[in-house]
Amino acid sequence: VSLLIRGAVLDGVPSSIRIRHGRIASVTPSEGGPEETAGRVIDGRGLHAFPSFRNGHTHAPMVLFRGYGDDMPLMDWLSKRIWPAERHLTEEDVYLGTRLGILEMIKGGTTFFNEMYWHRPGIVRAVEEMGMSALVGATMIDLGDPAELARQKEEVEDLVSKRRAAKGAAASYSSRGVAELALAPHSIYTVSPPVLEWIGAIAREEGLLLHIHLSETAGEVEDCVRAHGCRPARLLERLGLVGPHLIAAHGQYLDDDELEVLGDAGATVVTNPTANLKLATGAIFPYRRARAAGVRVGLGTDGAASNNNLDMLEEMKVAALVQKHAERDATALPAAEALAMATTSAAEAFRLGSGRIEAGAPGDLVLVDFSGPATQPLHDPVSMLVYAANASNVHTTICGGRVLMEAGKVEVCDEQEVIASARDAVTRLLERTTRSA
Ligand SMILES: [Zn+2]
Repeated sequence: VSLLIRGAVLDGVPSSIRIRHGRIASVTPSEGGPEETAGRVIDGRGLHAFPSFRNGHTHAPMVLFRGYGDDMPLMDWLSKRIWPAERHLTEEDVYLGTRLGILEMIKGGTTFFNEMYWHRPGIVRAVEEMGMSALVGATMIDLGDPAELARQKEEVEDLVSKRRAAKGAAASYSSRGVAELALAPHSIYTVSPPVLEWIGAIAREEGLLLHIHLSETAGEVEDCVRAHGCRPARLLERLGLVGPHLIAAHGQYLDDDELEVLGDAGATVVTNPTANLKLATGAIFPYRRARAAGVRVGLGTDGAASNNNLDMLEEMKVAALVQKHAERDATALPAAEALAMATTSAAEAFRLGSGRIEAGAPGDLVLVDFSGPATQPLHDPVSMLVYAANASNVHTTICGGRVLMEAGKVEVCDEQEVIASARDAVTRLLERTTRSA
């Protein structure tokens, strides 16, 4: 199976990009001699090629709750809207919600997402059907119910041993559009230290990535210091969770000592600026200090209930703007760094190859159309992408060499059916929730 993208502009040069067996086989200037015509050819003339985007932290099925209770204080919103509805959520609802989330991501040029939610099999099914690549966490919350905790532990053990048995699964993860397992304890305030320690040991032994919410609110830090005598990142270090495999979401309240711990260990922090602003968490992620400490920084949308979309282009812009504002410095977090957070840094953190369009890298890329009025005239493609473009500029999305969308037409599902069935699922879900209230 081969794919040729002819004439798309890459780093200022019209180029031919050949993809074979899911990987980029070659990148050459378009005028570089006769073109082979075997396999599929995409006419990229007039379009710009970029690496596809990686959503570093999300809860994709929560698109079902998009706009359901905006402008509410966090605890009110959770206790009156989200938790009552989530109690009635089925695996089928999660599957249908994830499909809608993936459809939105494909249309916005995202080919990978780092996921943490319930009913994992429903998420995995949607990922596999739609040709996405995803890290799907085995999510754990330990709120003092021993039976529920035992069930979650058993699930983790089962998933880990199945993964071990599936020889070679890990090797094929980066290039094939599949779901890989991560361990996803929700946070330090919902999972007890002994359980965190247990998860940390499994992650180390099995070589799995570990995904957790960290230092999202001032209250989380205060409670941690009171209960454990140290701040959240130091607690994770003490429990053996800090290493290059750690993916910590948020991190606005990390102090310099914690950033140093994470940086020295080669850990990643994924910032989610839109959700932080919307939920008024009260602090901006310390991007410059994090980078100075050697922390790898990724970018995520968080769930659509607190964003309210999964548009990584919008997220890059917001990330850049909040840093400039917080630092009172227009040179803070320039466009190229915002793009790197969503591409090369993310690829490194999630073990997805280089995250660049180059020979040997996984065939993950997008073609962007800047010809419309909101993206002309074109002085600098990267600036245009980050500051002026949005999901509607994405023309073609390719994951692991498979065309998920070309010229705005999604090829891996019936778009209208995906939208309608998610809408029906949430209507039924809210009926069940109201009936039992
Ligand atoms: Zn989150």
